[in-house]
Amino acid sequence: MQKIVQKFGGTSVGTIEKIKHVCSIINKEIKNGNQVAVVSSAMSGETNKLLSLAENFDIQNNKLESDMIVSTGEQIAISLISMALKEIGLKGRPLLGWQIPIIGTKDFTKAKINRIDDKIILEIMNRGEIPIIAGFQGIDEDKNIVTFGRGGSDTSAVAIAAAIAADRCDIYTDVDGVYTTDPRIVKNARKLNKISYEEMLEFASLGAKVLQTRSVEMAMRHEVTVQVLSSISGNTGTFLIKEDEKMENELVSGIAYSKDEANLTLINILDKPGVATKIFSPLGEANINVDMIVQTGSENGNNINFTYTVSRKDLEQTILIMEENKNDIGFERIIRNNSLAKVSIIGLGMRTHTGVANKMFSALASENINIHVISTSEIKISVLIDETAIEKAINVLHSTFELEKK
Ligand code: ADP
Ligand code: ASP
Ligand code: MG
Repeated sequence: MQKIVQKFGGTSVGTIEKIKHVCSIINKEIKNGNQVAVVSSAMSGETNKLLSLAENFDIQNNKLESDMIVSTGEQIAISLISMALKEIGLKGRPLLGWQIPIIGTKDFTKAKINRIDDKIILEIMNRGEIPIIAGFQGIDEDKNIVTFGRGGSDTSAVAIAAAIAADRCDIYTDVDGVYTTDPRIVKNARKLNKISYEEMLEFASLGAKVLQTRSVEMAMRHEVTVQVLSSISGNTGTFLIKEDEKMENELVSGIAYSKDEANLTLINILDKPGVATKIFSPLGEANINVDMIVQTGSENGNNINFTYTVSRKDLEQTILIMEENKNDIGFERIIRNNSLAKVSIIGLGMRTHTGVANKMFSALASENINIHVISTSEIKISVLIDETAIEKAINVLHSTFELEKK
């Protein structure tokens, strides 16, 4: 007998019909003689709807209330799953974060999970019943409801799997697994049978929303066996594995993209020690994440320009902060651009092979795609391009690196 966590994403529980179908997936695992704990997202579209209600007010000023509102989507989904399970003769027990409890940090809208009490979950499973746990939510030490960021049910599921020492955590979604790139953009994207935690971490943090980044970190840290699979097709999905289990490292395993990019350039700053910290400390204090950074010198050597990217939602606040610190930083003016996208190629093989970057740049050049900023790390190369070129860029890179082929 195995202990299995089954997580269902929004599209998998988007209608009553789909919820009934999900129950047949749960039933199959129970029939196999296994114990199951279910984690569910809200029905698709529900979280956005709830968020737009909260957005009638200033969210920054109402984070506690906003989290309380958006957490209700999952409450509905788990109750419906429990009802549907009853119809097929299975006994479920819907549970909200506080009932377990799942304790998170006090960071409303993006809390981290600190600990999960396994007692109630295991008691229910050992009685032969099925805990159906609301994803995305927990409580802080003061019993406020906190949520774990968009896509946070993935992290709830992996954290629960780690807490109860599950044999496997199955993440059911609307695609057959993790693909070489978003199958909605490249028609012949190929499903990967396995992917290393390290590569998946890059995929997720560079924009592939199939798994929330934190869920991958958590799986890696606790060595949780995670499978991403479809709730529709019934096919075997993609397994996250430790790097050394992989036979050979792909040069490029896949392509991720993010449309959530904005950049700004501070023009004509007097070049002296301490400029960078004057720019980035106030942003750090405001909890604004800076991604790509480029500093360019000027001809006379006295002045520099500073370009960096932030997520689009942070652009206005970033500009305000820069203006407030204008004299201290000493720039002349700001240029902004919020119609950019980031495309990244990822692969463990890049550690040991050269020439990948040039192949990427010449493929983009062949399609006349202009690169604004480049950044690299050991196993990825990212470029910032115009948003309008994104589909073309992903497609040309996918075929250049022959990702459709095994
Ligand atoms: P869920 O509602 O199940 O949590 P998400 O919408 O969060 O599902 O994530 C699944 C989606 O992720 C897919 O429909 C797909 O469009 C997108 N996606 C982006 N990149 C990839 C990738 N490399 N492999 C698979 N899916 C991807
Ligand atoms: N319902 C939440 C969201 O839409 C959490 C999740 O789906 O994982 O972000
Ligand atoms: Mg998701």
